[in-house]
Amino acid sequence: MNQRPDQYAVIGHPVAHSRSPQIHAAFARQTGQVMAYQRRLAPLGGFVESVTRFFSEGGCGLNVTVPFKQEAWALAHAHLSARARLAGAVNTLWQRNGELQGCNTDGIGLLRDLQSLGAPLTNAHILLVGAGGAARGVIEPLLATGCSELRVVNRTPARAHDLVAEMAGLPNGERLQAGALADAGRPDGWDLIINATASGLHNAAPELPSHGVWRNGAWAYDMVYGTQPTPFLAQAQRHGLTTTDGLGMLVEQAAESFRLWRGVLPDTQPVRHALRAALQRGLAADAPLD
Ligand code: NAP
Repeated sequence: MNQRPDQYAVIGHPVAHSRSPQIHAAFARQTGQVMAYQRRLAPLGGFVESVTRFFSEGGCGLNVTVPFKQEAWALAHAHLSARARLAGAVNTLWQRNGELQGCNTDGIGLLRDLQSLGAPLTNAHILLVGAGGAARGVIEPLLATGCSELRVVNRTPARAHDLVAEMAGLPNGERLQAGALADAGRPDGWDLIINATASGLHNAAPELPSHGVWRNGAWAYDMVYGTQPTPFLAQAQRHGLTTTDGLGMLVEQAAESFRLWRGVLPDTQPVRHALRAALQRGLAADAPLD
């Protein structure tokens, strides 16, 4: 008798655009895991009910996307990983002994991508633009690299100040600063600028000062990904920076979720290449990757 595959899903609102099913299907094929991975659209205001129903029906694990990461954190508050506790947001849920467990793999995903690219981290001066859920998840891992300085700037400055105040007690927390977008200048520019805002989704760039931000030869990273450079990356290219979008982060954070669920870390390189090729070819989000 055929065994029913273990059930996983990404839950969000909206969720139809999510590439996670393609990525996890590719990981499962590569590692020989018997599992199915689907999308679940939870109504706004109905996240907790949707999660409860998923696990009561025998589901094994969920990825959580916009706008539910903070609700997922609250739901799994009794069993959060250290990363999730610090981030204040959860993107990976599973059950152990009937108890909901939560982790945040965005930070490790970004870090693995930056490390694989050879981006400057140790002793680097890093500008982090944005103070939402994604920025929260990456501050602790960035500080842990031994960067010299990490300045968080945001369109709504109070959110950057609150976030930095919350994280100031972390190891290397004295290297954190907060400000408005207009405070993003530094006499020698930055070694690495990370756009953790949703601006790229609206085909806009954060309104950063024209002086003291961009330095020829530095690096720019946008967490948003697509077939064309985001306006932020296009701006960085005009100033001579090396640029990368967030596709690698997406695959790396998924790989860490997969490891937490299945106990095996997939090889991300072939999946990154296949996903990039699929995007360039306009392959639909529910078609299998080659
Ligand atoms: P979020 O919690 O909703 O925060 C949104 C952030 O973007 C806030 O800092 C907001 O500033 C800022 N923002 C939005 N539009 C802006 C604009 N036009 N100019 C300047 N700032 C703007 O969202 P999130 O969870 O942090 O996600 C942020 C982005 O990262 C999303 O696009 C998401 O898709 C992407 N992401 C990618 C990955 C990946 O694996 N590649 C993982 C996680 C997230 P205010 O505070 O002023 O509103």
